[in-house]
Amino acid sequence: MSPKAPITQDVMTIPRKLPEGKVNLVGLTRDQLREALIEHGTPEKQAKMRTGQIWQWIYQWGVRDFAEMTNLAKAYRAQLAETFVIEIPEVVTRQVSEDGTRKYLCRIAGGHEVEVVYIPEEDRGTLCISSQVGCTLTCSFCHTGTQKLVRNLTAAEIVGQVMMARDDIEEWPVPGAPKDETRLLSNIVLMGMGEPLYNFENVRDAMKIAMDPEGISLSRRRITLSTSGVVPEIARTAEEIGCLLAISFHATTDETRDVLVPINKRWNIEELLQALASYPKASNSERITFEYVMLDGVNDSDEDAHRLIAHIKRHNIPAKINLIPFNEWPGAPYKRSSNNRIRAFANIIYQAGYASPIRKTRGEDIMAACGQLKSATERARKSRKQIAAEAGLQN
Ligand code: SAH
Ligand code: SF4
Repeated sequence: MSPKAPITQDVMTIPRKLPEGKVNLVGLTRDQLREALIEHGTPEKQAKMRTGQIWQWIYQWGVRDFAEMTNLAKAYRAQLAETFVIEIPEVVTRQVSEDGTRKYLCRIAGGHEVEVVYIPEEDRGTLCISSQVGCTLTCSFCHTGTQKLVRNLTAAEIVGQVMMARDDIEEWPVPGAPKDETRLLSNIVLMGMGEPLYNFENVRDAMKIAMDPEGISLSRRRITLSTSGVVPEIARTAEEIGCLLAISFHATTDETRDVLVPINKRWNIEELLQALASYPKASNSERITFEYVMLDGVNDSDEDAHRLIAHIKRHNIPAKINLIPFNEWPGAPYKRSSNNRIRAFANIIYQAGYASPIRKTRGEDIMAACGQLKSATERARKSRKQIAAEAGLQN
């Protein structure tokens, strides 16, 4: 094993078992969809056109039943229905917070569950989606990291979360109706459960589908991928996805980051900053978001704020620093920094010329806030003592 191998073994995607061996069309790239159609009897000469038509029905109009695809011959529709399905994760529960945030628990193959959060704002709406069930990384402040069971989501399950949310907020266009440019679901953040860069291909394929202009058609500038710092995949994200990047930075010395974000032991702060410095140019995107969770007495001193700025300046990274008040969860070994401390920290960053928004906690009453996600079926919680021991803290 090379010294730079991932900190934990990557996990496999278990393909979805479908009724009577039918193939799910959701999550296939255009090329894969075309191949699937040909393989199941669509004449090669027609395949390109049929792919375009079916694609639009699925992703532009939100249709799930082949019978509704009225520009296809009846016999062909029946043939499709015999071979294929259009399937997305099933919503098990939906909770609505006092502030309008919606948290969905969705069931996927194998009886697993993932959480998806919709955050409405005045002029936009953000959907926070998951890329894995659980997470193989064990960031000591993150609830998801305490979940033992992990599996990668398929591309269908990832883009399916977006389709599920569009169903719930009733945002599929109605044929013939005037085009409405104000979207309720205007942004996607890959900030739910899991490390998206440990499930690269599925995340990429799903986001390509979400960006496709003949479908959900979200601009790549409205999609933000958050990573804990899987350095070798950062350049690939720029090239193959081209979305905005957020980085779970959270500490300004390797000593502290090793504890908070253990992947730092593989790729340290300096290596991470080098990878980040090339990202904006390679992806033709703007600033990188540095996410920084505010933990009382751990990473929230004035010196930390100054060091953070020095790191960013040294590498000349166009950045915005998003301060996240720590969201507590049962057994968490940390406390949230005081509001005064967070404001003082933000002010140092602001004085240095960087935007330093403090992330507003949303949906806390339904445990939908950052780092609180963890599926109800897998509450095999570690004890407080075990968590503290792994975080290298005295209890
Ligand atoms: N695995 C990816 C994306 C999911 S986490 C990553 O780590 O970037 C999304 C964001 O929520 C990350 O910045 C993460 O560090 C932060 N987070 C995790 N637990 C949190 C908590 N308890 N309170 C506040 N933010 C938290
Ligand atoms: Fe995984 Fe991200 Fe949580 Fe770390 S912060 S354990 S990488 S989900």
